[in-house]
Amino acid sequence: MTSMKAVTFAAFGAPEVLKATTVERPSAGPDDVLIAIRAAGVCYHDVLSRAGKIPGGKPDRILGHEIAGEIVEVGSNVPVERKGERVVIYQRLYCGLCRYCLSGRQDLCRNGRVLGESGGGGYAEFTCAPARNAIAMPEGLAMTAAALAVCPVGTSVRAALGVAQVEPGQTVLITGAGGGLGLHQIQVVKSVSAYAIAVTSSENKVDMLRQAGADEVIVSPDLKFSGEVWRRTAKQGVDVVLENVVSDTFGESLRSTAQNAIVVVLGNIGAKRVEVDPGLLIVRRIRIAGSGNATYKDVRMALHLMASGAVKPYIGAVLPFPRVSEGHAMMEQRTVVGRVVLSGW
Ligand SMILES: [Zn+2]
Ligand SMILES: [Zn+2]
Repeated sequence: MTSMKAVTFAAFGAPEVLKATTVERPSAGPDDVLIAIRAAGVCYHDVLSRAGKIPGGKPDRILGHEIAGEIVEVGSNVPVERKGERVVIYQRLYCGLCRYCLSGRQDLCRNGRVLGESGGGGYAEFTCAPARNAIAMPEGLAMTAAALAVCPVGTSVRAALGVAQVEPGQTVLITGAGGGLGLHQIQVVKSVSAYAIAVTSSENKVDMLRQAGADEVIVSPDLKFSGEVWRRTAKQGVDVVLENVVSDTFGESLRSTAQNAIVVVLGNIGAKRVEVDPGLLIVRRIRIAGSGNATYKDVRMALHLMASGAVKPYIGAVLPFPRVSEGHAMMEQRTVVGRVVLSGW
């Protein structure tokens, strides 16, 4: 058996359950590639998984779905030229046969699973994935940045450019703008020359939001921001809302819209039901749409936006893999702004 270093957890619990250990190194099947992992992002989903808060999960597995690395071995059906390629891994292992996969929406495949959900994740020296999941990254992009392409940046691209199809000149309102998604969304929105209005409940995020490129920042501790949006848009309202909060903001978001606006729901903070005024939807022709994982196209766009400098990924800390429990603790206690990325042993 060839072994490798990895971080696993024997039981659900506090961040300290994550332990560096030695496990069997996976080997590439005929259609797979073996990837030496150079950087792995820590997602809030990992924090919930480790704590046992994701239904159906089991402990004793390798977490992590935000992976960048280098192909070091290829299966017999994979062109040998791919060896040495710098790649990110498309996080969803999909069937390739269902109607969603065949229409290019592998993110909607219901026969798939997400890397790391049932093991084989990014908190390790190596992982195996189908060759089709390994997406080549542009020259000059750092591994720590590339690791964020599939999840935080890709998710922002999906919502802003995929679902909302933001166009130059449109006005976009971003709620919970100071969070990990919001800071990337502002930059994605600015990359197509739209106007970004950021809403935050805390005064001390204003500078950061301006640096991210927000044209306007509304500080609204009581989350009654629609009047201010109305004032700052000369009573026109916004064309797009990227809703990262929803629970205590949705009504105000709907009231902030222009005619024919689209409100994209990404966040579910508080996981509470919200009220909708159907009259308002009808009068303003408001569309409400959910958004989730990136598509392949979104990941490629995320990589390109980062390589060109249009999107600067927010990395709060880079830690060696064995210190991942510190990263989880920082995220739980909200002492870090931006992603924690693992790199090096
Ligand atoms: Zn993630
Ligand atoms: Zn499928």
